Amino acid sequence: MLVAKGIEKYYGDLHVLKGVDVTIGHGEVVSIVGPSGAGKSTLLHILGTLDESDKGEVKVGETNITKLKGDKLATYRNNEIGFIFQFHNLLPEFTGEENIIIPGLIAGRSEKELKIRAKELAGILGVAGRLQHKPSELSGGEQQRIAVARALINDPKIIFADEPSGNLDSKSAQDLHELFFRLRDEFGQSFVIVTHNQELAEMADRMLTMQDGKIVSL
Ligand code: ADP
Ligand code: ADP
Repeated sequence: MLVAKGIEKYYGDLHVLKGVDVTIGHGEVVSIVGPSGAGKSTLLHILGTLDESDKGEVKVGETNITKLKGDKLATYRNNEIGFIFQFHNLLPEFTGEENIIIPGLIAGRSEKELKIRAKELAGILGVAGRLQHKPSELSGGEQQRIAVARALINDPKIIFADEPSGNLDSKSAQDLHELFFRLRDEFGQSFVIVTHNQELAEMADRMLTMQDGKIVSL
């Protein structure tokens, strides 16, 4: 599904990624662990087109996403992948429902269809009753579920998550982790998750350990 080869990245003189190869299978949940500064976030950002590598390529299906530019890149980002961050970045002035459907509106889908899908997703995520609330009226766990629904609204094939439960209490974190696997089972999405949470890392189908810009175990 996703194949990255020979990924290298420099920040000035700092060689942050030193030739990373990664393969993510269809419907596979892969965790990326390792010490702070190892290059995990940088790798995730490159796999997810949020950052560019200096060397190497990332292919998703037949598409070389390292070469995508402009409109094609925007369309790819909006339709094929979803992102979940430690801090959910929900828009404070919009309701949960509005936050969820915004990527769908950007993709040009009908608002009516999107609201139906938002309700369905919120149901699966256990926040159906919270859709008309603004982020400030929701708990941390609820906010993160709304952010997950937003990441899923365009049915992406791959979800990239950077410390998705880093800001949650242990019960909410556990619920969120179980959710990822339910979503995978239900929709067949692949997940690539950078995490310091040992339990989540070990639940994954595969755990990649990064150290000093390389993957040291497969
Ligand atoms: P991790 O996610 O494993 O903690 P990062 O990918 O965030 O590691 O960072 C790897 C290294 O790259 C660190 O030394 C970090 O300071 C550096 N780095 C990350 N982003 C930037 C940037 N935008 N500019 C300069 N250095 C960066
Ligand atoms: P993480 O928890 O993922 O390791 P960091 O604190 O390393 O997060 O990085 C947070 C953000 O700051 C990222 O977008 C990263 O690219 C950027 N960043 C990290 N280190 C540096 C750096 N030395 N110089 C500039 N930007 C950096």
